[in-house]
Amino acid sequence: MADQNPAIPTYFLVLILYITRFVSTLGKSMPRTTLLPSKLQNHDLANRLHLDPDSIESVSSDYGNIVHKRPAAVLYPTSAEDIKTLIKFSYNSSAPFTIAARGHGHSVRGQAMAYNGVVIDMIHLKNRRKKTGVIVSKSHSLGYFADVGGEQLWIDVLNATLEHGLAPVSWTDFLQLTVGGTLSNAGISGQTFRYGPQISNVFEVDVITGKGQLVTCSPNINSELFYAVLGGLGQFGIITRARIALESAPKSVKWVRMLYSDFSAFTKDQERLISINGRKQNNALDYVEGSLLMARGPLNNWRSSFFPASDIPRITSLATQHGIIYTIEVAKYYDDWTQHTVDKELEEMFKGLSFIPGLIFAKDVSYVDFLARVRSEDNVPHPWLNLFLPKSSIEDFNSGVFRDIVLKRNITTGPVLFYPMNRNK
Ligand SMILES: Cc1cc2nc3c(=O)[nH]c(=O)nc-3n(C[C@H](O)[C@H](O)[C@H](O)COP(=O)(O)OP(=O)(O)OC[C@H]3O[C@@H](n4cnc5c(N)ncnc54)[C@H](O)[C@@H]3O)c2cc1C
Repeated sequence: MADQNPAIPTYFLVLILYITRFVSTLGKSMPRTTLLPSKLQNHDLANRLHLDPDSIESVSSDYGNIVHKRPAAVLYPTSAEDIKTLIKFSYNSSAPFTIAARGHGHSVRGQAMAYNGVVIDMIHLKNRRKKTGVIVSKSHSLGYFADVGGEQLWIDVLNATLEHGLAPVSWTDFLQLTVGGTLSNAGISGQTFRYGPQISNVFEVDVITGKGQLVTCSPNINSELFYAVLGGLGQFGIITRARIALESAPKSVKWVRMLYSDFSAFTKDQERLISINGRKQNNALDYVEGSLLMARGPLNNWRSSFFPASDIPRITSLATQHGIIYTIEVAKYYDDWTQHTVDKELEEMFKGLSFIPGLIFAKDVSYVDFLARVRSEDNVPHPWLNLFLPKSSIEDFNSGVFRDIVLKRNITTGPVLFYPMNRNK
């Protein structure tokens, strides 16, 4: 992200295509060979290394359900020490093997697999910790923060921090993902335009490196490792703890969607809505995303059902008429202090926007219901594409891809998200 000009937004696109049910037998039909050095099988760690078919099967596919790779063994760690021992063993071995951490396995292309190596099932640590995996503290220099195990699910981080009236500020749309899993990528959602991705809200991490050493790193200590491991796709070490910034948790959310038939009007309004983005700015929105409603796609989909049943026929007929309807989705958090002013603030912010008259829909939900809005568990394949587009080419993308390919060829899509963020975040 070399361009630091906050005035130039970048667009984030998530394109999910549904294909008919297909379960690959590739991985399943492969002969099982245990290539692990025999010394490891006699090691102290042996009773935490599982070679049985059920354990192997459980880590041989992922949410994408497209790639299937079988490891030789699965480590069910009972502590960070087990992970250190395994990695050290491989590092010092004359026949090192592949090791991959697996969080909740919600990758889509086999990123958490280790063909003929060892998969570390991080979730197993969750129930093994002597202390809770989420510890909330405060310091003079950092304010409130939580020390969180890399194996913790974000939904559990939310629930634990809410007990203190606090919460992280940057999220993903879906919370059944681990802290280590999203911090290895970036962790992007509608809050990113304002707070940056999740990796920009981390003060410190404990990492087990490829040599099996536990290293604490931060922007000031071992900074090279810190910046490598955050967004490092699991290639620079295993995150066992992250210190995450917290702020006061709001109670409720005004959640609004507005519909557009014109792409330029849609993106112009999105950019206007993210132009106020200071962390402490009261008049900024808390969340901005956007999505496409296609004539051949779902209106209310797995990400959330939103539109009232009585309006669905009208929206469907507009989607048929225009081919694509563009939706801006925003949220403004509020609490007891601001409950009487939030509607007025939103009204001011929406003045001059060009959505189709009358096609604005609002909901009032609790903060937890808003954050936990996406529920998605099925085991069909999920082809999935994430792209960052420069602002300069979004018009071309709309006409070349959405209209000339997806629409003209009658391609049925799953959810397509399309929203801006500021490069300096
Ligand atoms: C329904 C759904 C919605 C999603 N929505 C969003 C979204 O809104 N925003 C977004 O940014 N992403 C989103 N994602 C993508 C998701 O953030 C990534 O796929 C993430 O990696 C999944 O986390 P996981 O715990 O399942 O990790 P896994 O799939 O288990 O692992 C992912 C990668 O991280 C590595 N890894 C896992 N744990 C650790 C660790 N402790 N230390 C180091 N490396 C580790 C793995 O080796 C692998 O390379 C979504 C995914 C799904 C399925």
